[in-house]
Amino acid sequence: MASNRPVRVRFAPSPTGMLHIGGARTALFNWAFARSCGGKFILRIEDTDTARNTPESLQSILDSLRWLGLDWDEGPDCGGDFGSYYQSERLPSYQAAIARGLQEDWLYRCFASAEEIEVQRTLAREAKCNWRFDEASRNLNQADAAARAAAGDPFVLRFRMPMAEDITFQDHIRGTVTFASQGIEDWVAVRGNAMPTYNLVCALDDAAMEISHVIRGEEHLVNTPKQILIFRALGVPEPEFAHVPLILGKDGKKLSKRTGDTALGDYIRAGYAADALFNFLCLLGFSIDDKTEIFTREELLEAFTLKRISKSGAIFDTDKLAWMCGDYIRRMSLPELVSAVLPYCIEAGLVAQDASADEALQNMVGAFQERFHLYSEFPQQAAGLFGALPDWDDQARKALAGEGAALATSQLADILEKANWPPEDFKALVVTVAEDLEVGLGKVMKPVRAALTGTLGGPELERILQILGRERVLRRLRELPTAARS
Ligand code: GLU
Repeated sequence: MASNRPVRVRFAPSPTGMLHIGGARTALFNWAFARSCGGKFILRIEDTDTARNTPESLQSILDSLRWLGLDWDEGPDCGGDFGSYYQSERLPSYQAAIARGLQEDWLYRCFASAEEIEVQRTLAREAKCNWRFDEASRNLNQADAAARAAAGDPFVLRFRMPMAEDITFQDHIRGTVTFASQGIEDWVAVRGNAMPTYNLVCALDDAAMEISHVIRGEEHLVNTPKQILIFRALGVPEPEFAHVPLILGKDGKKLSKRTGDTALGDYIRAGYAADALFNFLCLLGFSIDDKTEIFTREELLEAFTLKRISKSGAIFDTDKLAWMCGDYIRRMSLPELVSAVLPYCIEAGLVAQDASADEALQNMVGAFQERFHLYSEFPQQAAGLFGALPDWDDQARKALAGEGAALATSQLADILEKANWPPEDFKALVVTVAEDLEVGLGKVMKPVRAALTGTLGGPELERILQILGRERVLRRLRELPTAARS
């Protein structure tokens, strides 16, 4: 299977929507393979479906790939020796191949109408066999076919499949794969509107761009025998293939909206850390060894081999992803984390654009670093610490409306007002209040936390005092929600 060709791999998205999680993982494996063996990673835009392509989709695919930290050596934005990297600009090269296919007879004109073929398909189904071709068209000689075409008879071009031949290839992940040609119909290579179809142009481009390895999703396995026959017809070397397993939701079915977002953009917007998502995507079918889950890009590239990609479907476990993101967040340096959460704080209207150097924000992020998994969770969790008074949530309001809560908070405020700032032993002050009121410590702690933060969870109160500062602490302990004051 190993060949001596220079390694050239490609990711070939169609710009008809956002980058799917599966596409992102395919891109990542191609990138990792190229980077781990000194090869080239090529980005090719498969934009022949003019009705469904959009410039926004192309932009979002490029943005998503860059967000993941992938870079490419040749592509639509950076060019290269094998351009154009837009299929829509490669039509002349396809025309030349199509003319050759007709001349060499591996492509032929099929004049049967869609309705006629439907009838033939039904008959084949009734006879319990596959429809393979329209016999009259397949057997028409080239001169007659050309004459009919010249006279204006509508036609499509079909690929002439061998009558009975095994098409076998070695897949890096799946081992030996064989398709019998009897199971594959003479497929449409050029539509009636003269547009060549995916299987034809994909193989033509892989040949022209000297792609050495085609690494793509398992859903394309059925296309591989068709594309291999194109390489053989052209007389060019066949690339090696690696079909990566499907990504499944936690329910074991193909990943869908039901079991998790399927577009990378949704994860970007939700505030997942790019390095964590990168690491997580690697684990969808690949492993460095049997135990390592967290690894750097360098460690990945050291270890990457197609052999370690598994055959069986990979489960997209959103809980594990959240855990992994939390783990990455805990390892980040504070300045790094502050700049990562800043856009979410700005969006939530909590800070100004230039707040990254703000010491209070840094303190807050530091206090919450252990507690959030997504960047977007930080402003949600810490919202109560911004501004003069918090927006008390229901639980906090309930705690503050409880018996003795208002007294406990105001008594603590009185003690704090007279104490040094920051208090040397805050806990001891709270104990004093509890003893004085003859209640358990919790009866003071809970309303105090509620008053100070607007919620019941969060970092230890000593850190909260430091973040809020003396004036805000006193004000918050005294100015409770209306229900608590009455
Ligand atoms: N444009 C195809 C897709 O997005 C590429 C398939 C391939 O890698 O051959 O699925």
